[in-house]
Amino acid sequence: MGLDVDRPFTDAGTPASAWQQWEPGWPEFDLSDPPPQVVVVAPHPDDEVLGVGGLLVRLRDLGARIAVMAVTDGDGSHPGSPTLSARQLAEQRITEQHAALAALGLGDTQVHRAGLPDGRVAGHEAALAALVEPLLTARTWVFTTWRGDRHPDHEATGRAAALAANHAGARLVEYPVWTWHWSVPDDPDVPWSRARSVTLPERVMRAKERAVDCYRTQIAPLSDHPADAAVLPPPFLARLLRSTETVFI
Ligand SMILES: [Zn+2]
Repeated sequence: MGLDVDRPFTDAGTPASAWQQWEPGWPEFDLSDPPPQVVVVAPHPDDEVLGVGGLLVRLRDLGARIAVMAVTDGDGSHPGSPTLSARQLAEQRITEQHAALAALGLGDTQVHRAGLPDGRVAGHEAALAALVEPLLTARTWVFTTWRGDRHPDHEATGRAAALAANHAGARLVEYPVWTWHWSVPDDPDVPWSRARSVTLPERVMRAKERAVDCYRTQIAPLSDHPADAAVLPPPFLARLLRSTETVFI
């Protein structure tokens, strides 16, 4: 997910139970005509799993090839950590990302690394779009973080992916990540009318949980030092590990 120093999400946010009780019954995301290829443009290692990990498994089961564009290596999640330098953190998160994809059964996924600075994707949107566009055809589905997700990297990544998809004539599908934290049911700032649900069968749900478990640097503290606190403590994870995923078409 990635925390930004300028806009930290410090409170507990909307609990998973509030979202669960709301359940507005969005239409199911239509997978009846799956694409030959899917490209996920993920701002930080873990956004691909947290947002659409289950959907990727379902599309793979339907024959789609999956590729990931890792926008940053997530080196900014623990500024001031006495345990891991930014470089060590990036190395660990890259390793975690490959393990997580393997846990989803997507171990042969092609992962492209843009290597942009964590927290500063907004300065590099045109360059990112230029890296994504050659991966796309008019039949590709591009998944990316929603342009209104209120994390600067998530929004910039969404804009860059939209630019690339538009040039290639590919389909863009956005997904919320931080929205589940800051938003509330019926929030007028969120395009719920574009929301579609992806139901995750039990087997896919378990695979997604195992994939999230691979991101140890994010779900567990690096040490007892305050700068080493977990980025994704249990209430955060609960919101993102519900039995459906949501996309905005
Ligand atoms: Zn992120």
